[in-house]
Amino acid sequence: MSTIVVVGAGVSGLTCALQLAKQGGNTITVVAKHMPGDYDPEYTSPFAGANVLPMAPEYNRWEGETWPELKRLAETCPEAGIHFQKAVLYRRPQDEASAGLAGPLAEGLFVRNPWFKDVMPDYVDLPASEVPEGMSSASSFTSVCINTAIYLPWLVGQCRARGVVFKRAVLKHISDAAKLSHTGRKPDIIINATGLLSCRLGGVMDQKVMPARGQVVLVRNEATPNMVCTSGTDDGNDDELCYIMQRAAGGGTVLGGTYMKGNWDSVPDPNIATRIMKRAVEACPALTGGKGIEALDVIRHAVGLRPYREGGVRIEKENIDGTWVVHNYGHGGWGYQGSWGCAFRVQELVDEIKSELKVGSKL
Ligand code: FAD
Repeated sequence: MSTIVVVGAGVSGLTCALQLAKQGGNTITVVAKHMPGDYDPEYTSPFAGANVLPMAPEYNRWEGETWPELKRLAETCPEAGIHFQKAVLYRRPQDEASAGLAGPLAEGLFVRNPWFKDVMPDYVDLPASEVPEGMSSASSFTSVCINTAIYLPWLVGQCRARGVVFKRAVLKHISDAAKLSHTGRKPDIIINATGLLSCRLGGVMDQKVMPARGQVVLVRNEATPNMVCTSGTDDGNDDELCYIMQRAAGGGTVLGGTYMKGNWDSVPDPNIATRIMKRAVEACPALTGGKGIEALDVIRHAVGLRPYREGGVRIEKENIDGTWVVHNYGHGGWGYQGSWGCAFRVQELVDEIKSELKVGSKL
């Protein structure tokens, strides 16, 4: 058996722990400052919508390999808190005109004929009659929305059913994990899934990591069966956008949002909140039965800080203080929709390390 300590209990750490537990041959401890059930802006996962709107500019295995697993869970596992929803993307003319499209989430999501048109079911470009005023084009496809308040505890439960042990701890240095396996043994491998705080964790201190502030409003009102996302907004800054998604199993409807890079402010801004609600009601009048934002029944205003990383996600192995560390952090706004693909890569790296260690012990 290999001894593994996973640092982090967000969607990245929990999915890795579950994948490694399913694989067998590993004794796994998950240690984290925050656990499912906590709400703290520096713990991103509970704040996510979360849905699947592919963002990579071209096919990548993170999003490509995650979709089949989330689809399978939505089809066969109601207790995971995932349901299917149609996603409708609206493009503004100025965004279509600019090279590569403007807008905070625009890298790959809003391009015409994207790679994911062959992956996401039912992808179609909508006829002009279904494109609202002010928008130049629209596309729709079948996606999912994840109720994170159900899915994260479900991941914990799946891990516990396979013998994974959970412990609270705040690490100053990634090598502190060497003393934290519940077995008392020094771990063979540490998985670093510390998200945004990887910029402050000793031994990692990744200065490419910064928050992409996401402000949302969670309401009791129900949307149409469709999730909506626009390529930009006319009444706000470039780092604001309009999206609506209804979480599975009574999780409320998430109205978004912002994608403000480098902004650590965890307090909801009332002006932004008003703009978010106004846009949502305009984009989806069914939310309030045609009434204004005063008909929205707010559960809470919230801010989550996405773990954005300049240059992209970091998934690689590194030997730190004599122990192998596999990093898996910096997922920005796609941590759920890339979670399984990333966990599969982490598993490959763990397998490589295990075979290297075995070779070493024979010498
Ligand atoms: P986190 O969830 O932040 O977890 C990090 C873990 O590491 C925590 O347990 C923390 O306590 C632990 N940790 C950190 N430092 C230490 C330390 N020193 N010692 C001990 N433990 C430590 N993604 C999607 O795929 N689809 C969406 O629709 C979507 N919508 C979003 C909407 C909003 C408003 C926001 C804010 C995010 C959204 N995201 C979405 C992005 C997604 O939420 C993140 O990419 C994802 O949650 C990152 O997960 P993580 O596990 O890497 O980090």
